[in-house]
Amino acid sequence: MSEQEDVIVAKRAGFCPGVKRAIDKVLELEASGHFPVYTIGPLIHNKQVTDMLAAKKISAIEKPQEAKDKNGVLVIRAHGITPEFQKEVESCGMKVVDATCPLVKHAQNVIAQFAAKGYHTIIVGDAHHAEVIGLMGYTQGKGMVVSGPQEAQHLPYFDKVNVVSQTTQKESVFFETAEEIKKHADICQVSNTICQPTKDRQKETIELAQSADLVIVVGGKHSANTARLALLCKALSSAVQHVETEAELDENLIHHAKKIFITAGASTPSWVIDRVAERVKTLRAD
Ligand code: SF4
Repeated sequence: MSEQEDVIVAKRAGFCPGVKRAIDKVLELEASGHFPVYTIGPLIHNKQVTDMLAAKKISAIEKPQEAKDKNGVLVIRAHGITPEFQKEVESCGMKVVDATCPLVKHAQNVIAQFAAKGYHTIIVGDAHHAEVIGLMGYTQGKGMVVSGPQEAQHLPYFDKVNVVSQTTQKESVFFETAEEIKKHADICQVSNTICQPTKDRQKETIELAQSADLVIVVGGKHSANTARLALLCKALSSAVQHVETEAELDENLIHHAKKIFITAGASTPSWVIDRVAERVKTLRAD
């Protein structure tokens, strides 16, 4: 995707397949006259996308009861929800479309499968993230969340434990945490549920960010995956700028960097990335 050798745009920047699938489903529903469309929680943490959805009267609600028009459609977003909540949503009498990412469903199934055999579940991730809240629902009440190896040091001792990951977790954090958890269990099953698109994105970022003088991370300021990506880049490159749009670009940094790497979180639309890349190239040409 690079047109200028000194400005490289990540091939895997932007929407991951799960987020793209959920947005496409919602837009298809709206275009085919299924109206209004309600999503259970915001579809994505990106202002440009939420503004676009709001303009089409696609709104986020927390519970089915909040839907003003019961003839509307409820969409379960890519992060998924707990099985109890899923039952509640599906029995509310409204049309329901499940846009849970198949790779999140895989993580849910791995948890359910081992929980049925009596395993405790430890999820390596962010306890407040919607995906993790959904995953906890599959642990049969025997789940815990740790953010990394340090928190894992305080875990009690288990007979059987299944270690899984939030799908967007950093691989090194997951494996270091799993090593720590092994010290806390007789039997420790390590189930790496980081999704392939996340693994590919991390690999590409590591390769390209360390050879750049400036990394520009494009994405919502409230997007957890973009913030994590920016953090990963900060460990690899001396200069990192996190911007939501091209208006926030630092011209001075752009002029002084020899090699620039532009990447983006999984919730950043391609049109926002393209605008940032175009602006960077224009500034370099000035
Ligand atoms: S990050 Fe991975 S698991 Fe999560 S929605 Fe995207 S593709 Fe699916």
